[in-house]
Amino acid sequence: MKTLYTGMKVFHFGAKLDSLGREISAILPPVHIRIKPTNLCCHSCRYCAYRSEGLQLGKDMNDRDTIPRQKMLEIADDIIEMGVKAVTFSGGGEPFCYPHLLEVVQRLAESSVRFAALTNGARVTGEIAEYFALHATWLRVSIDGWDGASYARYRGVSDREFDRVLANLRQFRHYGGSCHVGASIIVDRENAGHVCQLVEKLRNTGIHSVKISPCIVSNDGRQNNEYHAPIFDRVKEEVARAAGTFAGDGFEIFDSYHRQLDSFQKVYTWCPYLQILPVIGADQNVYSCQDKAYNLDCGLIGSIRNRRFRDFWTDGKDKFFAIDPSRVCNHHCVADSKNRMVLEYLQANAEHLAFV
Ligand code: SF4
Ligand code: SF4
Repeated sequence: MKTLYTGMKVFHFGAKLDSLGREISAILPPVHIRIKPTNLCCHSCRYCAYRSEGLQLGKDMNDRDTIPRQKMLEIADDIIEMGVKAVTFSGGGEPFCYPHLLEVVQRLAESSVRFAALTNGARVTGEIAEYFALHATWLRVSIDGWDGASYARYRGVSDREFDRVLANLRQFRHYGGSCHVGASIIVDRENAGHVCQLVEKLRNTGIHSVKISPCIVSNDGRQNNEYHAPIFDRVKEEVARAAGTFAGDGFEIFDSYHRQLDSFQKVYTWCPYLQILPVIGADQNVYSCQDKAYNLDCGLIGSIRNRRFRDFWTDGKDKFFAIDPSRVCNHHCVADSKNRMVLEYLQANAEHLAFV
């Protein structure tokens, strides 16, 4: 099987890369857009990054914002017309709580735009679930508790919700189709000793993969590492045991549990990735990335409330260079290593390119 998680995917979009610089006049569409259709959620996770005090993410989020149906259909039409390659629906809130999701993905499925979703899995049921199973590229369910009681503590839901989510995953796989179904386990001090047990339950639903990542507790890398230090070795043992016991026969385990850099300091002054993978929020604003969604002071590229996304995107390049990462992005950033690779690629001396 070929690699799902690699920061090198963007190098398959050479024309886009070559259009990114300030001195180039061309503006090409984003390759991939994250859309947060609604900020409403049916869970109430105690660690939710969008609702945690002290984390930059979600700072200016209004829990009740939802993209109106007509606006969402207009965005879908623009995405298709512009030639955007992929859309991921995610939170803010829970995308499967958005009442128009089926209509939107049906429209995307009639085009070449691929789509996927990040979800808590609770509403992945019925017609929308079957449509995703048959037409989406991937679906990833976030999960933390390892049984009914622990899941309820994490998420402020009933003890029965854990079994319901696993049943939803099982049913999703029964629909058939080629949608890759993964789960994402966010590890903290409470579930650190239950990773292997949870991986087994997830594998038994028939899903394809599990990704294991650290919970981010601070904008400061050193504080994150201090939080994880007492559990780090134990989690690594759990992951190794899970991989040794359950990986194989079409089931993969991705170990993304790692120490953070001590400092999230950036040295570059513009962000290539915000032209590659921007975010459209439920407030109808376009943000630079998932780490700065709902940050009006330093993550906002602009508003599409009163204009079409395609017109906003192609109307001038200055907006793409207004965010200076060396000043305002000194926090966790999923695109950092990819930004550094793209900037190095763009800085290569044209006279010397042939000397590979
Ligand atoms: S399911 Fe996701 S969006 Fe909803 S509260 Fe939990 S972490 Fe937040
Ligand atoms: S550098 Fe990272 S955090 Fe800053 S805008 Fe770009 S992707 Fe977002």
